[in-house]
Amino acid sequence: MNCIFCKIINGEIQSKKIYEDEKVYAFYDINPEAPVHFLVIPKEHIISANEISEINSNIISHIFLVINKLVRELGINKEGYRIVNNCGELGGQTVDHMHFHVLGGRGLKWPPG
Ligand code: AMP
Ligand code: ZN
Repeated sequence: MNCIFCKIINGEIQSKKIYEDEKVYAFYDINPEAPVHFLVIPKEHIISANEISEINSNIISHIFLVINKLVRELGINKEGYRIVNNCGELGGQTVDHMHFHVLGGRGLKWPPG
């Protein structure tokens, strides 16, 4: 499949891996927008949050448990951070494999642009 995140999962494209298990893969964003900026993706090719259903929704809780563990390991859990999912064209999604951004290490403005 011609998906850059599937290629990252299978090792065809290199990445700075933080964590991997049977269901998810976490790696640093190539174009960081904050001192800490990583992505957590399901190994299953789910295009976007629009494709979440009763059948596959357990991946979302698993992703949040992994984020919970990683922010503690990276030491940003207490100071705070942001979890972002961009969905579709107007949501700013540029890679059509669902991913959760985790941004931290600086103050983040709200609302986003
Ligand atoms: P989004 O705009 O929400 O679809 O986010 C896609 C993110 O993937 C962007 O923040 C990109 O910098 C990031 N990205 C794209 N290609 C790579 C790559 N090869 N390795 C790591 N991050 C990437
Ligand atoms: Zn994919």
